Amino acid sequence: MNFTATVKQELISLPLEKTCCMTSELNALTACCGSISLLGAGRVQLHYVTQSAGVLRRIFTLLKRRHGISAAPRLVRLGSFGGVRQYQLRLTPEDTRTVLRGMDPQRREGIGLRGVPLRQTRRICCRRAWIRGAFLGCGTVTDPARGYRAEFVLADAARAAHLARLLTLNGVPTGHIQRRGSEVVYLRQGDALVTLLGLMGASRAVFHVENVRAAGSLSAGVNRATNCDHANLTKQLSAAQRQVEQITRISLARGLTALPRELEELARLRLSNPDAGLKELGDMLSPPLTKSGVQQRMRRIAAFAQTLD
Ligand SMILES: [Zn+2]
Repeated sequence: MNFTATVKQELISLPLEKTCCMTSELNALTACCGSISLLGAGRVQLHYVTQSAGVLRRIFTLLKRRHGISAAPRLVRLGSFGGVRQYQLRLTPEDTRTVLRGMDPQRREGIGLRGVPLRQTRRICCRRAWIRGAFLGCGTVTDPARGYRAEFVLADAARAAHLARLLTLNGVPTGHIQRRGSEVVYLRQGDALVTLLGLMGASRAVFHVENVRAAGSLSAGVNRATNCDHANLTKQLSAAQRQVEQITRISLARGLTALPRELEELARLRLSNPDAGLKELGDMLSPPLTKSGVQQRMRRIAAFAQTLD
């Protein structure tokens, strides 16, 4: 599975929460992978297209929960993309009207998906849901081992501008280009990527990116010592803070003795040395352990902490 699919998988397995956020996520999905066709006589039809069966299922669930709509999904193969499997969900004109009204109760009858009202995303919870929906609908993210990049490909400039504004408001600086007739909102920076993934609720993905970054900055070795900018340091600290937090959780729930002996030792060291780098921690262990060995154990600790959720 590529990293985009992994992240989407994590996002679609998140539980649906408040009604306001369900609306927001659905509307973002509609804005990002929905399109409208004219049926004549003023009737319009909304359909969703995605390459992910999981995303389609999420749309299906949201439509049902928010609007009581159940539409039959279809599997379509689009030859022009080398036989790529695409999933489609078509709504009736009546259901289409319901969804569009849900996006903007004041909207005039019309066919556009443009001009998404900002007020729907005034609350922080709904902004996060919107960004998650947008990513599910039209987002991709590169495997962090190959660089820190994420992109949203949108059909028109208005929707792209809305998303870019929302991301900026939430501390994710973006750029914007046009590519083959589409509007692409992108980010190209580790911090921005981590913030984005965190906003959407993809905590496993955040952890993965942080691990890759930690490994990268360790192998950069000497360079980092002389070149260590504030952002990097903050990032490193926050990874350590997260470890401390996980270990504390394990300690409260089960006690650190519930961990295998080698993990317990590392966990205790981390608690008493919250500022140490992974290599330093490795040197304190007996017998000493390489930084990648320490990292691996930290991952196992994190996995253990996750089972407590
Ligand atoms: Zn909300």
